Amino acid sequence: MTDKVLVTGGAGYIGSHACKALAKAGFVPVTLDNFSTGWRDAVKFGPVVEADLMDRAALDAAFAEHRPVAVLHFAALSQVGEAMAEPGKYWRNNVAGSLNLIEATIASGCRHFVFSSTCATYGDRDGEVLDEDTPQAPLNAYGASKRAIEDMLVDFEASHGLRYVIFRYFNVAGADPDGEVGEFHRPETHLIPLILDAVDGKRDALTINGTDYPTPDGTCIRDYVHVMDLVDAHVKGLEWLRADKDSRVFCLGTGDGFSVREVVDATRHVTNRQVPMVDGPRRGGDAVKLVCGSQRAKDELGWTPDRSTMKQMIGDAWRWHQGGDYRQ
Ligand code: UDP
Repeated sequence: MTDKVLVTGGAGYIGSHACKALAKAGFVPVTLDNFSTGWRDAVKFGPVVEADLMDRAALDAAFAEHRPVAVLHFAALSQVGEAMAEPGKYWRNNVAGSLNLIEATIASGCRHFVFSSTCATYGDRDGEVLDEDTPQAPLNAYGASKRAIEDMLVDFEASHGLRYVIFRYFNVAGADPDGEVGEFHRPETHLIPLILDAVDGKRDALTINGTDYPTPDGTCIRDYVHVMDLVDAHVKGLEWLRADKDSRVFCLGTGDGFSVREVVDATRHVTNRQVPMVDGPRRGGDAVKLVCGSQRAKDELGWTPDRSTMKQMIGDAWRWHQGGDYRQ
C-alpha cells in the first residue's frame, strides 16, 4: 500500500504544490484544510478532509481514517499586516491549532512532522545573512506564532519522541511550470502576484510599501525561492525523517536579496510591460532585509534552489497568472 502523508493547508499555495511533489515521489497526499484561504480546485493529487485545526475530534478522525506516516504542516495565517492588527487570530489559529495537530499526531502513533516556519521569526538582523543559528526575535505575531510552534516541537520531541524537520522559508514565489497549480490569495498581499495584477490592469497600481529603508534603493530586501524548489526540500525533509535521522532546522533561501524595486524591474523585463506603481508608506512589522544562506540544506539534504532565479519565478508566475482569472 502506498504511504499516505497528511498535508495541512494542502489547498493553499505552497501546500498544493507540495501535494503534487509528494504524489510524484510516490506518496498519497491527504489534504486537510478548512478552506478559509485555500481553494477546492487546488486539491488534485489525493483525498481531502475538510477540517479546522481547532477541531481536535476531526483531526483524530482524519488520522484514524488515513493512518498517515508523516505530517507536513503548512496550514497557517500568514499575513504580516493582519498579524499586526489582529494578533489574537495568529496566536489562536496558528499556535493553538498547531498544538491540537501535534497532540493528534502523537496520539495516532505517527512520529514524523515537517513544519513550515519562516524567516519572520528572526525580526530585523541589521543586514546580516541569516542562518539556522541566528537568534530569533520576531517583529510581529505571525513570526512569534511560528517561533512558538518551533518551541512546541522541541518540547514534544523531548517528551514523546516526535521527530521534526523545521523549514524556515524566505519569500516563496513562482508556480508549477505545468500550470496545474499556482499562487492565488484572497485578499492578495504578496508582492509578485500584486505586481502582475498591476501589469495586466487588475489593479490600478502597485503600492511600494516604504521607500525610505536603509537599503541602496530605499525598499525592503527579500530572498525569493521558487515554490518548486521549496516543495522539493519538503520531500527531502520527509525522506530525512524516514531514514531515522535527527530532528533538524533548515533555512531555505538562495543567499541573494532583491529589493521591491528590483523585483518590479525584473517583472518589467519578463513580461515586457510597464508596471504602474506608486510610492506608499512603510507597512508595519516589515523587516528591512531578510536573506539567508542555505548551506546546511545543501550539505545535509542535498538541496539546491536551481529554479530560484528571478526570471524563472516571475516567468512561471506570469504564465499561471495569464491562464485564466476564474477567482475574481
Ligand atoms: N510589498 C510592497 N507592496 C505590496 C506588497 C508587498 O511593497 O503591495 C513589499 C513588502 O512590504 C515586503 C516585500 O514586498 O517588503 C515582500 O512582501 P510580501 O508580502 O510578498 O512577503 P513578506 O516579506 O511579507 O513575507
